[in-house]
Parts: sequence; structure tokens; C-alpha cells
Amino acid sequence: MGLTVADHPLAQHLLTQLRDVQTPPPLFRTIAKRLTIALVLEAVRGLPSVRVEVETPLERAPGRTISPDLVAVAILRAGLGMLEAVTELFPEVSVGYIGLERDDVTLQPTSYYEKLPPVEGRHVLLLDPMLATGGSAARACSSIKTKGPAQVLFVCVVAAPQGVARMQRDHPEVPIFTAALDRDLTENGYILPGLGDFGDRLYGTEPHLGAPPNR
Ligand code: URA
Repeated sequence: MGLTVADHPLAQHLLTQLRDVQTPPPLFRTIAKRLTIALVLEAVRGLPSVRVEVETPLERAPGRTISPDLVAVAILRAGLGMLEAVTELFPEVSVGYIGLERDDVTLQPTSYYEKLPPVEGRHVLLLDPMLATGGSAARACSSIKTKGPAQVLFVCVVAAPQGVARMQRDHPEVPIFTAALDRDLTENGYILPGLGDFGDRLYGTEPHLGAPPNR
């Protein structure tokens, strides 16, 4: 499955604001939500829809509704910054959470929290803004796939080539939707040029507001 980079000028405009180190957390949260809406519009393009008919004030009209089997799963904590966009677009969506941390010994992501609604036969939007090494995304996909979803779609804000390669190796059937495919990773796993630590920028927890991450 492929990689879709949302090259719409509005998506790129919003991404540029997110990248800007001067963008403060309240604005960062607002823009992250708007950009996620643009990304989710791309992601749901191929989802099954159902033909319906509605009564306009004048006559009956044919229409379509997206089938109501959507599940959104946010990878904690940065994925929370993308969740509200999905719950606003799809108020009926079921929501799950996966918390992952890196084991200091194995360096592999291990799960410290997982709460998923039923996903069997359903379409899952997996939300994590920064696809860096791909370890967390791949681990979350593996976990969701044990529960038999119809499809997992991965939505992120920025992707690194290493993360895309990891996902395409481990989960080739999972399409990736992003606003940018960036150049590289630092040795600490930050995306270059990236936008810094998404969670810190979202919640104002940067150790030194505005300072670039350790390289
Ligand atoms: N997570 C982030 O928040 N930023 C990166 O650049 C990489 C991973």
C-alpha cells in the first residue's frame, strides 16, 4: 500500500505554521487539528460508502454516507492532538488509545496502556503525528491487527523515510497519509527538518521553549 502526501496548498500552509518554532502551544493545537482534518479527508477517500436517499425541501435526492464502522486509535500522547479532528468529522466514531514507551534495554516500544473498542471488521484510523523510526506505529498496527480489523489506515503529520520503510516492510497493506515526507532522522530519532517534539509543542512541555531538540 502506498504513501499519500497531502500536497494541497492549505495543508502545506498549515504544516509550515506547525514547523515554525515561533508557533506557541495554543495556536499549535488549533493548527494541528485543522491539518488533521485535511489529512483525514484524504484517508477516508477510499472507504466504503452507502447509497442513501434523503428528502430535500423539494424532492428526494440520492446521496452517500460513509459507513459507520470507523474506529480512531490515538497513540499516546501526541496522537491526542489529532483526535478531536476525527471526532468532530465523525461524531459516531469509536475511539481507542495505545500508550507506548521505549524499553531501555531492548530499545523496542512496549505497551503501557491499551484500550481499544471492538475493531473486528471495522476501518481503523491510527493517529500518530510523527512517523520517525516507525517502531511505535508498527507496534500499534501489530496490536490492532490481532483483533481482525477490515483495514488499518495510518495518519501522521510528518513522516521520515526510515519510518515509511519500516511500515512498508512490516505492514505493507497499511496506507500512510501524511503532510510531508521529510529528509532524515537525528541520532535521537527526531525528524529533520521536522517540527521538534510534537507532544511538547502541543502541551507546552518543552524543556527550553523554542530550543531545537538535541542533535
Ligand atoms: N516524535 C516527535 O515528536 N518528533 C520527532 O521529530 C520524532 C518523533
